Amino acid sequence: MTANPKSERKAWLNGPSAQCAPMPTPKEHPWRLILFGPPGVGKGTQAQLLHERLGACQLSTGDVFRAAGTHAACDLTPAMQEALAYMRKGELVPDTTVWQLVRERRGCLHCGGGFLLDGFPRTLGQAQSLQGLLDREGLELSAVLSYELPLAEIVSRLSGRRTCKQCKAVFHRVHQPPKSDGVCDLCGGALFQRDDDQPEAIRVRMGVYRSSTAPLIEFYQQRGLLIRVPATGSPDEICRRSLEMMEWRATSTHGHELA
Ligand code: AMP
Repeated sequence: MTANPKSERKAWLNGPSAQCAPMPTPKEHPWRLILFGPPGVGKGTQAQLLHERLGACQLSTGDVFRAAGTHAACDLTPAMQEALAYMRKGELVPDTTVWQLVRERRGCLHCGGGFLLDGFPRTLGQAQSLQGLLDREGLELSAVLSYELPLAEIVSRLSGRRTCKQCKAVFHRVHQPPKSDGVCDLCGGALFQRDDDQPEAIRVRMGVYRSSTAPLIEFYQQRGLLIRVPATGSPDEICRRSLEMMEWRATSTHGHELA
């Protein structure tokens, strides 16, 4: 099934009252995934490709903060203004703010097409809160895809990354250039380099990843959910590899639908 990336992400960006349009066809065994990995490993691109392939909603906490950053400061709550200041420096937003944002969007976790959590959870506290919420809502995670890549490759990917201002699609100046320089292939929006992809912010984000987020690998490994995916090759190759590894896992657990 091919889903419409723009319409489904909008619901998540807009908050609790928004609804997917069109609603994805409900699946008997929808994939409920966490996409995990250091900054620059290509999680956002993979989330986009897996969303198109599986019909699962892409839920990115980073996108919510970036969308909030396009509003005038006076339209934002003090907590959101504080969150944006952390984000611009490449630091993590406090757990309480992130958790409020996810909790008020919990309806998206019930999406009939499943979900792909992209950039959340990022701390042990967030992972434990998410586990509690999923238990209360009667939802089960299918797997955690952990994308892995050497550091030098990560820095090259981050510094060349360009994001669409309008639909948030991700391109790369060398590895995945848009057809027309500076213009999004999907919606014609302008491409820009994120503040947190500047060299100093990249250094901070890598340090934060190592100290706060890497311990989650152990957390999900202990729960038998972790799938380690080598993130080398083109985005399509990585996506194919992810699907093969998920399929292998699905046949050894219960039957999720890959198409
Ligand atoms: P991303 O696009 O996922 O790399 O997120 C961009 C920035 O948003 C991060 O560097 C953080 O400042 C903030 N952010 C996004 N998700 C989270 C999260 N789960 N916890 C804390 N901060 C987050």
